Amino acid sequence: MTILPIRITGDPVLHSKAQEVTLFDQTLRTLVADMFETMDAAPGVGLAAPQVGVPLRLFIYDYPDDDDTPRRGVVINPTLELGKIRPGKPNEDTESEGCLSVPGERFALRRSERVTVRGMDLEQNPIEIEATDWFARVFQHEFDHLDGLLYVDRLKKSERREADLAISENKWGVPGKSWLPGRDNLEG
Ligand code: ZN
Repeated sequence: MTILPIRITGDPVLHSKAQEVTLFDQTLRTLVADMFETMDAAPGVGLAAPQVGVPLRLFIYDYPDDDDTPRRGVVINPTLELGKIRPGKPNEDTESEGCLSVPGERFALRRSERVTVRGMDLEQNPIEIEATDWFARVFQHEFDHLDGLLYVDRLKKSERREADLAISENKWGVPGKSWLPGRDNLEG
């Protein structure tokens, strides 16, 4: 397995809609295995294919559910059903999100507390996962990547300004930047 470079915000693949997976072949298996290796090395709790430069609709996750049971897997061609989003300002202590494509930064963002994810695994078996709280947040974050959205794109004005500042200070926001887990000392 190979650790893949993770694209940093500014790379066009992160800001474009990804394509449905149609070929469930060895190339796809290798991609998913490499993505797990990359996510574990980062380390991260989720990784979407566009983050490693592949414009396909799939992501992986590794996060405990509400009962603290570890959950780990891949979802291919997912759909996402969202519960209600509470009004008001997000809490910086409990609702701060990060992203391996905006490494080292965290900003508070309100998300739906409940989602249902449906899709397929590598064998094209149907998957359905109900998730709440942070497990639900992970799915919303990864699903957004497939539509070319980063969590910073969803921030409200003042947080968005801070994020834009961090991005320009790091000289990100331009095509072709990436980092390699295990070599570069960055974290999401
Ligand atoms: Zn991300």
